[in-house]
Amino acid sequence: MEQLGFDFGIEPRPLIKVTPARLSLYDDCPRRFRLTYLDRPAPPRTGPWAHTTLGAVVHNALRELFTLPVSKRTPERAETLVSRHWRSGGFADAVQVARYAEAARRWVADYVEQHGADVDPVGVERWVSATVGSDPASPSLIVEGRADRIDDRDGELVVVDYKTGRTPPSDTHARRSRALALYAAAAARTLRKPCSRVELHHLPTATVAVAEHTDADLTEHVRRAEETATASHTAADRLGRGDDPDRLFPARPAPRCAWCELRSSCPEGQQAAPAARPWDLLAPTT
Ligand code: SF4
Repeated sequence: MEQLGFDFGIEPRPLIKVTPARLSLYDDCPRRFRLTYLDRPAPPRTGPWAHTTLGAVVHNALRELFTLPVSKRTPERAETLVSRHWRSGGFADAVQVARYAEAARRWVADYVEQHGADVDPVGVERWVSATVGSDPASPSLIVEGRADRIDDRDGELVVVDYKTGRTPPSDTHARRSRALALYAAAAARTLRKPCSRVELHHLPTATVAVAEHTDADLTEHVRRAEETATASHTAADRLGRGDDPDRLFPARPAPRCAWCELRSSCPEGQQAAPAARPWDLLAPTT
């Protein structure tokens, strides 16, 4: 992770640049973090995953929808945008492609029908970058990333994240999401407005999971992010000085190894779970 510091004549507290995705990857499996971000040349990856392709299609359709004038954000236009952005990487065959293309059109149309699309987002796939810290007087992290959508609702910002996975997220998922909490903290600083509400919008079920964070909640998320950032930064530093990569970045075998895109470089992961098929993580269509 890139480390930045400034000389004001006193010993500076180093700022560590992070993204929520990097932090989550390190917490889930340090080896996968190393294979993804540190090992060069980059190790081989699996081919495309259908659930990832589908997620990208839906995100792109909704991004374009919310950049249109409000009067044009209709369910029919949302369906058209799914067709425009459609990709087929990772799907089993033409029959499955047709079934999911139809399902995705229905998901976005139902979503617009049920939740409306007349909000005025202050950001769509908005890049946020801000210094944050569990001690507000002494920032420790530069949090960067792209939020799916940031709404301004009555003067308060709301961070929205679209989901297309197999299971609808709960309010607890929204509360525990470090990514959403960090985006809320970063958005508040970047856009200079309060931001305590975060939402997970699950397209296959058109459901919305919500969390209203207190300042203490956000501080705790930032504190845990600081712990992970410091641990990963220290390990990367020691790797650069020649320490044992497997000890610094241990494998963390789990069922998720079935769909890890780097499993071909990880004997422990191959033993932990058989390889999933590229379409196994698709959400049900009915
Ligand atoms: S296969 Fe499993 S243990 Fe290996 S890098 Fe991937 S997630 Fe980690």
